[in-house]
Amino acid sequence: MPESTAVPQNLLWWQGLPEPESAAPCPDLQSLDAAIVGDGFTGLWTAYFLKQLRPTWRIAIFEQHYVGYGASGRNGGWLIGGMAGQEDWLGSLPDSQRQQSQQLLYGIVESVRAVCDAHQIDCDFNHAGVLYAAARYPEQAHSAHAWLKAIQASGQPESAFHWLAKPDAENLLHMPDLYGGLYSPHCATINPVKLCLGLASTLREMGVQIVERARVEEVSNRRVTVNSQPLRCGHIVLASEAFPPAWHPLSRKRLPVYSNVIATRSLSDHEWQQTVKKPGLAFSDLCRSITYGQRSQGGHMVFGARGGYQFGAKARFEFTQNDPAFRAPTTFLQRLFPSLTEQDIQYRWAGSLAMSRGFRPFAGFDKDSGIAYAGGYGGEGVGASHLFGQTLAELITETGSVFTEQPWVIRGNPSQLKNWEAEPMPWLGYHTLGRLFALEDWLCHEKKLPWLHKPLNTLSRFASGLIS
Ligand SMILES: Cc1cc2nc3c(=O)[nH]c(=O)nc-3n(C[C@H](O)[C@H](O)[C@H](O)COP(=O)(O)OP(=O)(O)OC[C@H]3O[C@@H](n4cnc5c(N)ncnc54)[C@H](O)[C@@H]3O)c2cc1C
Repeated sequence: MPESTAVPQNLLWWQGLPEPESAAPCPDLQSLDAAIVGDGFTGLWTAYFLKQLRPTWRIAIFEQHYVGYGASGRNGGWLIGGMAGQEDWLGSLPDSQRQQSQQLLYGIVESVRAVCDAHQIDCDFNHAGVLYAAARYPEQAHSAHAWLKAIQASGQPESAFHWLAKPDAENLLHMPDLYGGLYSPHCATINPVKLCLGLASTLREMGVQIVERARVEEVSNRRVTVNSQPLRCGHIVLASEAFPPAWHPLSRKRLPVYSNVIATRSLSDHEWQQTVKKPGLAFSDLCRSITYGQRSQGGHMVFGARGGYQFGAKARFEFTQNDPAFRAPTTFLQRLFPSLTEQDIQYRWAGSLAMSRGFRPFAGFDKDSGIAYAGGYGGEGVGASHLFGQTLAELITETGSVFTEQPWVIRGNPSQLKNWEAEPMPWLGYHTLGRLFALEDWLCHEKKLPWLHKPLNTLSRFASGLIS
């Protein structure tokens, strides 16, 4: 394991914040009510809600590096009131239950705001919604309408997602070839590192131990081994997302893929009028490559694109500034906003997230072993981890509420989750799909071989369906 003592130099979210301290000794902890592995959002939120429900419990979070090292400190800062696979989940529910689940999902954004307000956590929170833009070619507008149809078929109201025609979309974004976009109010933008650090400091005040540079080496029968020190604990929360080691019950259930983010220098008001007009807006170029951008509070345009996959399902967090992985977000950004050049890009960073088989995130608790687990968020875990943190806390404490009665909740061990196939299938699948999607996007963008666009679209949809 590489020893990561410093945050990546070119990670925008850390600018102006104090660097994490280097190795602090592991406190002498005798036994715990709950040991949490990983202090990303899942670990932090679970500790927060556990402490609310059981104020006297001794709770510790063990983090192999520092607070915010993982995806939680490296993402694009979209706080979504929803989760991956939402249409499938909601579409399968009876009406009354669907409305309850929708409220939980849509309520995430304001629930996070309420916690931030209560504890004076300043994370540059801006609830300005998200626009999935048909930004470059007409096929994107067709995809947007097909997606909207699926959203409506899953019973979601028009207030949650609606189509904005070009003139309305142009009030939010300026793009030379904009056709319109799907708008949802259920998204805020944040500085995720500020949220991680703010939550960690709140938790310390509440009496939760956060132990950095503390690697959990093994988990067994109400015991964790941390930096070679065995420790008894009543409950164990596995919140390590893209890093599951071989001993981890989720090691075959999640596949780490990486995503790459760039951010510009601080742009002037005039430059924003030429690009993203609405402060705090989250936006995406609606294509299969999965892109995400935001106009950040500090005036930087942040823009990311998925990514890559390493043979053997290895998570990746170390990237140099000239890594070829940053070509994709740079190319997309320039296609969307031709006035921005490579010289305007000041920050580059990346990290790994985890995909569950079937792209359905999960939150579970096995009462017999005392092990709780959550994850498989895909690229949509910033908000979902808040919901799942509360869910895990309620499952562990047997509180019982609407949170624990959701279709994404698993009672028992995670064996009912599908395994990913063994190599080389994931590697071949990822790279084949990636090339297919890139070819489809390039042909449509360049308006070349128009007769091939429809068959390629059908093939891409079919291929995506095979792994969902
Ligand atoms: C580049 C990028 C962009 C993204 N953009 C968005 C976005 O805009 N919106 C969104 O909703 N989602 C986004 N995501 C996904 C989102 O960031 C994640 O789903 C979410 O942060 C997961 O949180 P987590 O706490 O489960 O995992 P993590 O944040 O990865 O935390 C896991 C922690 O566990 C620690 N750990 C692992 N193993 C051990 C061990 N054995 N012992 C001790 N500690 C251990 C790790 O060091 C890590 O800090 C993005 C992800 C990436 C990588």
